[in-house]
Amino acid sequence: MRAASESRAAPAAFVAVQDLVKTYPIARTGLVVRSVDGISLAIARGEVLGLVGETGCGKSTLARLLVGLTQPDRGTIRIDGVDHAGLGGRALKAMRRTVQFIFQDPFEALDPRMRIRRSLEAPLEAHGLGDAGVRLQRINAMLLEVGLDAGFLDRLPRECSGGQLQRIVIARALLLEPRFLICDEPTSALDASMRAQILNLLADLKRRFMLTLLVISHDLRVVNFISDRIAVMYLGQIVEVARRDDLFERPRHPYTQALIAAAMLGRPGQHPAVSTLRGEPPSPLRPPSGCRFHERCPHAQPICAREMPELVDAGDDRWTRCHRWHELAGADQLVQSLKR
Ligand code: SF4
Repeated sequence: MRAASESRAAPAAFVAVQDLVKTYPIARTGLVVRSVDGISLAIARGEVLGLVGETGCGKSTLARLLVGLTQPDRGTIRIDGVDHAGLGGRALKAMRRTVQFIFQDPFEALDPRMRIRRSLEAPLEAHGLGDAGVRLQRINAMLLEVGLDAGFLDRLPRECSGGQLQRIVIARALLLEPRFLICDEPTSALDASMRAQILNLLADLKRRFMLTLLVISHDLRVVNFISDRIAVMYLGQIVEVARRDDLFERPRHPYTQALIAAAMLGRPGQHPAVSTLRGEPPSPLRPPSGCRFHERCPHAQPICAREMPELVDAGDDRWTRCHRWHELAGADQLVQSLKR
Protein backbone atom coordinates (compact mmCIF):
# COMPACT_ATOMS: atom_id res chain seq x y z
CA MET A 1 0.00 0.00 0.00
CA ARG A 2 1.48 3.38 -0.99
CA ALA A 3 1.39 6.51 1.16
CA ALA A 4 0.69 9.80 -0.59
CA SER A 5 4.21 11.07 -0.04
CA GLU A 6 5.48 8.04 -1.98
CA SER A 7 3.15 8.63 -4.88
CA ARG A 8 4.89 11.92 -5.63
CA ALA A 9 3.55 13.93 -8.47
CA ALA A 10 2.39 11.88 -11.43
CA PRO A 11 4.27 12.98 -14.57
CA ALA A 12 0.98 14.09 -16.12
CA ALA A 13 0.12 16.33 -13.16
CA PHE A 14 -0.31 19.96 -14.17
CA VAL A 15 -0.37 21.05 -10.53
CA ALA A 16 1.80 19.01 -8.15
CA VAL A 17 1.92 19.82 -4.44
CA GLN A 18 4.26 17.86 -2.21
CA ASP A 19 4.35 17.83 1.62
CA LEU A 20 3.17 21.42 1.94
CA VAL A 21 3.25 22.91 5.46
CA LYS A 22 2.14 26.37 6.60
CA THR A 23 2.09 27.37 10.26
CA TYR A 24 1.12 30.61 11.98
CA PRO A 25 2.63 31.39 15.40
CA ILE A 26 0.21 33.03 17.83
CA ALA A 27 1.89 36.05 19.41
CA ARG A 28 2.89 35.80 23.10
CA THR A 29 1.47 32.28 23.53
CA GLY A 30 4.18 30.02 22.16
CA LEU A 31 1.39 28.24 20.26
CA VAL A 32 1.40 27.52 16.55
CA VAL A 33 -1.52 26.88 14.19
CA ARG A 34 -0.67 24.20 11.64
CA SER A 35 -3.04 25.52 9.03
CA VAL A 36 -1.74 23.31 6.22
CA ASP A 37 -0.06 20.20 7.55
CA GLY A 38 1.78 18.03 5.05
CA ILE A 39 -0.52 18.25 2.04
CA SER A 40 0.33 16.42 -1.18
CA LEU A 41 -1.98 16.43 -4.17
CA ALA A 42 -1.92 16.45 -7.94
CA ILE A 43 -4.30 18.02 -10.45
CA ALA A 44 -4.24 16.88 -14.07
CA ARG A 45 -4.29 19.39 -16.91
CA GLY A 46 -7.88 20.34 -17.68
CA GLU A 47 -9.22 18.73 -14.50
CA VAL A 48 -11.57 20.33 -11.96
CA LEU A 49 -10.55 19.38 -8.42
CA GLY A 50 -13.06 20.27 -5.71
CA LEU A 51 -11.67 20.90 -2.22
CA VAL A 52 -14.22 20.62 0.57
CA GLY A 53 -14.12 20.88 4.35
CA GLU A 54 -15.53 22.81 7.29
CA THR A 55 -14.69 26.47 7.87
CA GLY A 56 -11.19 26.86 9.35
CA CYS A 57 -9.82 23.54 8.05
CA GLY A 58 -7.09 25.29 6.04
CA LYS A 59 -8.68 25.33 2.56
CA SER A 60 -8.16 29.04 1.99
CA THR A 61 -4.57 28.92 3.29
CA LEU A 62 -3.86 26.18 0.75
CA ALA A 63 -5.35 28.40 -1.98
CA ARG A 64 -3.21 31.36 -0.92
CA LEU A 65 -0.10 29.15 -1.02
CA LEU A 66 -0.94 27.93 -4.51
CA VAL A 67 -1.43 31.42 -5.87
CA GLY A 68 1.74 32.71 -4.17
CA LEU A 69 0.00 35.12 -1.77
CA THR A 70 1.80 33.45 1.13
CA GLN A 71 4.93 31.31 1.33
CA PRO A 72 5.04 27.75 2.73
CA ASP A 73 7.26 26.77 5.67
CA ARG A 74 8.05 23.56 3.80
CA GLY A 75 7.11 21.62 0.71
CA THR A 76 6.99 22.25 -3.03
CA ILE A 77 4.46 23.55 -5.53
CA ARG A 78 5.02 22.84 -9.21
CA ILE A 79 2.68 24.22 -11.85
CA ASP A 80 3.24 23.03 -15.41
CA GLY A 81 6.63 21.75 -14.33
CA VAL A 82 7.81 25.04 -12.77
CA ASP A 83 8.78 25.03 -9.09
CA HIS A 84 7.33 28.11 -7.42
CA ALA A 85 9.97 28.31 -4.69
CA GLY A 86 12.42 31.12 -5.20
CA LEU A 87 10.78 32.58 -8.31
CA GLY A 88 11.57 36.24 -8.77
CA GLY A 89 11.45 39.02 -11.33
CA ARG A 90 9.98 38.06 -14.70
CA ALA A 91 9.42 34.41 -13.78
CA LEU A 92 7.35 35.42 -10.75
CA LYS A 93 5.32 37.84 -12.85
CA ALA A 94 4.69 35.13 -15.46
CA MET A 95 3.61 32.70 -12.75
CA ARG A 96 1.19 35.29 -11.32
CA ARG A 97 -0.38 35.58 -14.77
CA THR A 98 -0.63 31.80 -15.20
CA VAL A 99 -2.40 31.29 -11.86
CA GLN A 100 -5.43 33.44 -11.16
CA PHE A 101 -7.67 33.61 -8.11
CA ILE A 102 -11.42 34.18 -7.83
CA PHE A 103 -12.27 35.54 -4.40
CA GLN A 104 -15.25 34.62 -2.27
CA ASP A 105 -16.76 38.09 -2.12
CA PRO A 106 -16.83 40.02 -5.42
CA PHE A 107 -17.70 43.23 -3.52
CA GLU A 108 -14.32 43.04 -1.77
CA ALA A 109 -12.41 41.95 -4.88
CA LEU A 110 -13.08 45.22 -6.72
CA ASP A 111 -12.17 48.77 -5.69
CA PRO A 112 -15.54 50.42 -4.87
CA ARG A 113 -14.33 53.79 -6.24
CA MET A 114 -13.04 52.42 -9.53
CA ARG A 115 -15.20 52.06 -12.62
CA ILE A 116 -15.36 48.57 -14.11
CA ARG A 117 -13.40 49.72 -17.19
CA ARG A 118 -10.45 50.69 -14.98
CA SER A 119 -10.64 47.52 -12.86
CA LEU A 120 -10.39 45.44 -16.04
CA GLU A 121 -7.68 47.56 -17.69
CA ALA A 122 -5.34 47.67 -14.69
CA PRO A 123 -4.07 44.04 -14.77
CA LEU A 124 -3.57 44.19 -18.55
CA GLU A 125 -1.51 47.35 -18.10
CA ALA A 126 0.47 45.82 -15.25
CA HIS A 127 1.45 42.91 -17.48
CA GLY A 128 2.14 45.15 -20.50
CA LEU A 129 -0.50 43.47 -22.66
CA GLY A 130 -1.53 45.47 -25.74
CA ASP A 131 -2.06 49.18 -26.28
CA ALA A 132 -5.19 51.01 -25.13
CA GLY A 133 -7.19 50.01 -28.23
CA VAL A 134 -6.25 46.33 -28.06
CA ARG A 135 -6.95 46.25 -24.34
CA LEU A 136 -10.44 47.66 -24.83
CA GLN A 137 -11.14 45.13 -27.57
CA ARG A 138 -10.07 42.28 -25.30
CA ILE A 139 -12.13 43.63 -22.43
CA ASN A 140 -15.27 43.94 -24.57
CA ALA A 141 -14.80 40.42 -25.93
CA MET A 142 -14.29 39.02 -22.43
CA LEU A 143 -17.37 40.76 -21.07
CA LEU A 144 -19.40 38.95 -23.74
CA GLU A 145 -17.76 35.64 -22.74
CA VAL A 146 -19.05 36.07 -19.19
CA GLY A 147 -22.54 37.11 -20.26
CA LEU A 148 -22.18 40.89 -19.87
CA ASP A 149 -21.53 43.72 -22.35
CA ALA A 150 -19.76 47.06 -22.79
CA GLY A 151 -22.63 48.81 -21.00
CA PHE A 152 -20.99 47.78 -17.71
CA LEU A 153 -17.69 49.55 -18.38
CA ASP A 154 -18.70 52.91 -16.90
CA ARG A 155 -20.49 51.49 -13.86
CA LEU A 156 -19.15 51.47 -10.33
CA PRO A 157 -19.26 48.15 -8.42
CA ARG A 158 -22.21 49.40 -6.31
CA GLU A 159 -24.23 49.76 -9.52
CA CYS A 160 -23.92 46.01 -10.25
CA SER A 161 -25.57 42.99 -8.62
CA GLY A 162 -23.52 40.33 -6.80
CA GLY A 163 -23.83 37.95 -9.75
CA GLN A 164 -22.76 40.64 -12.23
CA LEU A 165 -19.77 41.53 -10.06
CA GLN A 166 -18.68 37.89 -9.84
CA ARG A 167 -18.84 37.71 -13.66
CA ILE A 168 -16.66 40.84 -13.83
CA VAL A 169 -14.16 39.30 -11.39
CA ILE A 170 -14.04 36.15 -13.53
CA ALA A 171 -13.55 38.27 -16.68
CA ARG A 172 -10.70 40.15 -15.00
CA ALA A 173 -8.96 36.88 -14.15
CA LEU A 174 -9.42 35.41 -17.64
CA LEU A 175 -8.13 38.54 -19.40
CA LEU A 176 -4.64 37.48 -18.31
CA GLU A 177 -5.08 34.12 -20.09
CA PRO A 178 -4.36 31.96 -17.03
CA ARG A 179 -4.07 28.20 -17.24
CA PHE A 180 -4.90 27.50 -13.59
CA LEU A 181 -7.86 29.16 -11.88
CA ILE A 182 -8.39 28.89 -8.13
CA CYS A 183 -11.95 29.68 -7.03
CA ASP A 184 -12.28 30.15 -3.26
CA GLU A 185 -15.96 29.81 -2.28
CA PRO A 186 -16.93 31.41 -5.62
CA THR A 187 -20.66 31.33 -4.94
CA SER A 188 -21.01 31.67 -1.18
CA ALA A 189 -21.89 35.38 -1.36
CA LEU A 190 -24.63 34.72 -3.94
CA ASP A 191 -28.24 33.58 -3.72
CA ALA A 192 -29.23 30.08 -4.88
CA SER A 193 -30.31 30.96 -8.43
CA MET A 194 -27.19 33.02 -9.06
CA ARG A 195 -25.05 30.23 -7.60
CA ALA A 196 -26.10 27.77 -10.31
CA GLN A 197 -25.54 30.37 -13.03
CA ILE A 198 -21.98 31.14 -11.88
CA LEU A 199 -21.11 27.44 -11.55
CA ASN A 200 -22.46 26.78 -15.05
CA LEU A 201 -20.44 29.73 -16.33
CA LEU A 202 -17.24 28.44 -14.71
CA ALA A 203 -17.80 24.96 -16.17
CA ASP A 204 -18.40 26.46 -19.61
CA LEU A 205 -15.36 28.78 -19.46
CA LYS A 206 -13.20 25.91 -18.24
CA ARG A 207 -13.99 24.00 -21.43
CA ARG A 208 -13.63 26.96 -23.77
CA PHE A 209 -10.39 28.30 -22.29
CA MET A 210 -8.94 24.84 -21.49
CA LEU A 211 -8.45 25.75 -17.83
CA THR A 212 -7.43 23.63 -14.89
CA LEU A 213 -9.60 24.50 -11.87
CA LEU A 214 -9.39 24.17 -8.09
CA VAL A 215 -12.83 24.93 -6.62
CA ILE A 216 -12.85 25.38 -2.86
CA SER A 217 -16.09 25.24 -0.89
CA HIS A 218 -17.55 24.25 2.44
CA ASP A 219 -20.65 23.19 0.45
CA LEU A 220 -20.64 19.64 -0.93
CA ARG A 221 -23.29 20.56 -3.47
CA VAL A 222 -20.96 23.11 -5.08
CA VAL A 223 -18.07 20.66 -5.50
CA ASN A 224 -20.48 17.92 -6.56
CA PHE A 225 -21.81 20.17 -9.31
CA ILE A 226 -18.53 21.07 -10.96
CA SER A 227 -15.73 18.68 -9.96
CA ASP A 228 -14.10 15.73 -11.70
CA ARG A 229 -12.42 14.67 -8.45
CA ILE A 230 -12.90 15.86 -4.88
CA ALA A 231 -10.39 16.21 -2.03
CA VAL A 232 -11.77 16.34 1.53
CA MET A 233 -9.81 18.37 4.08
CA TYR A 234 -9.93 18.17 7.88
CA LEU A 235 -7.79 20.19 10.32
CA GLY A 236 -5.04 21.00 7.85
CA GLN A 237 -4.83 17.56 6.23
CA ILE A 238 -6.35 15.83 3.21
CA VAL A 239 -8.34 12.85 4.51
CA GLU A 240 -9.80 11.53 1.25
CA VAL A 241 -9.42 12.06 -2.50
CA ALA A 242 -11.64 10.33 -5.05
CA ARG A 243 -13.47 10.77 -8.30
CA ARG A 244 -16.69 12.66 -7.67
CA ASP A 245 -19.13 9.80 -8.17
CA ASP A 246 -16.97 7.37 -6.17
CA LEU A 247 -16.76 9.82 -3.29
CA PHE A 248 -20.50 10.32 -3.10
CA GLU A 249 -21.53 6.74 -3.77
CA ARG A 250 -18.85 4.96 -1.73
CA PRO A 251 -17.22 7.37 0.75
CA ARG A 252 -14.32 5.59 2.47
CA HIS A 253 -13.44 8.01 5.26
CA PRO A 254 -15.81 8.46 8.25
CA TYR A 255 -15.45 12.24 7.99
CA THR A 256 -16.51 12.20 4.33
CA GLN A 257 -19.42 9.94 5.26
CA ALA A 258 -20.45 12.33 8.01
CA LEU A 259 -20.16 15.39 5.75
CA ILE A 260 -22.37 13.76 3.15
CA ALA A 261 -24.87 12.72 5.79
CA ALA A 262 -24.91 16.27 7.19
CA ALA A 263 -25.64 17.64 3.71
CA MET A 264 -28.55 15.21 3.45
CA LEU A 265 -30.10 16.00 6.84
CA GLY A 266 -33.80 16.56 6.50
CA ARG A 267 -33.87 15.03 3.05
CA PRO A 268 -35.97 11.97 2.38
CA GLY A 269 -33.90 8.85 1.83
CA GLN A 270 -31.11 9.72 4.24
CA HIS A 271 -28.94 6.65 4.58
CA PRO A 272 -29.33 5.12 8.06
CA ALA A 273 -25.86 3.52 7.99
CA VAL A 274 -24.08 6.84 8.07
CA SER A 275 -23.73 8.80 11.26
CA THR A 276 -24.03 12.55 11.26
CA LEU A 277 -21.18 14.86 12.19
CA ARG A 278 -21.06 15.43 15.93
CA GLY A 279 -19.45 18.24 17.86
CA GLU A 280 -17.26 21.05 16.63
CA PRO A 281 -13.86 20.54 15.00
CA PRO A 282 -11.06 20.65 17.61
CA SER A 283 -8.95 23.80 17.82
CA PRO A 284 -6.13 23.78 15.23
CA LEU A 285 -3.98 25.18 18.08
CA ARG A 286 -4.22 21.86 19.89
CA PRO A 287 -5.03 19.18 17.32
CA PRO A 288 -5.77 15.74 18.80
CA SER A 289 -3.07 13.09 18.84
CA GLY A 290 -3.24 10.29 16.30
CA CYS A 291 -6.08 10.63 13.82
CA ARG A 292 -7.27 14.22 14.01
CA PHE A 293 -10.85 13.07 13.59
CA HIS A 294 -10.84 10.50 16.40
CA GLU A 295 -12.72 12.63 18.96
CA ARG A 296 -15.69 12.92 16.56
CA CYS A 297 -15.44 9.56 14.82
CA PRO A 298 -18.04 6.89 15.65
CA HIS A 299 -15.62 4.18 14.49
CA ALA A 300 -12.59 5.21 16.57
CA GLN A 301 -10.48 2.46 18.17
CA PRO A 302 -7.59 2.86 20.66
CA ILE A 303 -5.04 2.93 17.83
CA CYS A 304 -6.77 5.97 16.36
CA ALA A 305 -5.81 8.16 19.34
CA ARG A 306 -2.21 6.91 19.27
CA GLU A 307 -1.14 6.80 15.64
CA MET A 308 -1.76 9.25 12.84
CA PRO A 309 -2.94 7.38 9.76
CA GLU A 310 -1.18 8.05 6.45
CA LEU A 311 -3.01 9.09 3.33
CA VAL A 312 -2.85 5.75 1.50
CA ASP A 313 -3.71 4.49 -1.94
CA ALA A 314 -7.08 2.73 -1.55
CA GLY A 315 -7.10 1.59 -5.18
CA ASP A 316 -9.13 2.75 -8.14
CA ASP A 317 -7.64 6.27 -8.06
CA ARG A 318 -8.70 6.98 -4.49
CA TRP A 319 -6.75 7.94 -1.40
CA THR A 320 -7.87 7.84 2.20
CA ARG A 321 -6.42 8.62 5.65
CA CYS A 322 -8.00 6.12 8.03
CA HIS A 323 -6.69 3.04 9.90
CA ARG A 324 -9.97 1.26 9.23
CA TRP A 325 -10.86 2.36 5.70
CA HIS A 326 -11.04 -1.20 4.34
CA GLU A 327 -13.56 -2.17 7.03
CA LEU A 328 -15.64 0.97 6.57
CA ALA A 329 -16.29 0.79 2.89
CA GLY A 330 -19.17 3.26 3.09
CA ALA A 331 -22.68 2.97 1.86
CA ASP A 332 -23.21 2.44 -1.85
CA GLN A 333 -25.58 4.72 -3.67
CA LEU A 334 -25.48 7.00 -0.66
CA VAL A 335 -26.45 10.33 -2.03
CA GLN A 336 -28.33 9.94 -5.24
CA SER A 337 -30.44 12.87 -4.14
CA LEU A 338 -27.39 15.14 -4.18
CA LYS A 339 -26.53 14.28 -7.77
CA ARG A 340 -27.22 16.68 -10.54
FE1 SF4 B 1 -12.10 7.17 12.61
FE2 SF4 B 1 -9.92 5.85 13.39
FE3 SF4 B 1 -10.44 6.17 10.82
FE4 SF4 B 1 -9.70 8.26 12.28
S1 SF4 B 1 -8.46 6.47 11.84
S2 SF4 B 1 -11.31 8.20 10.80
S3 SF4 B 1 -10.71 7.80 14.23
S4 SF4 B 1 -11.66 4.99 12.29
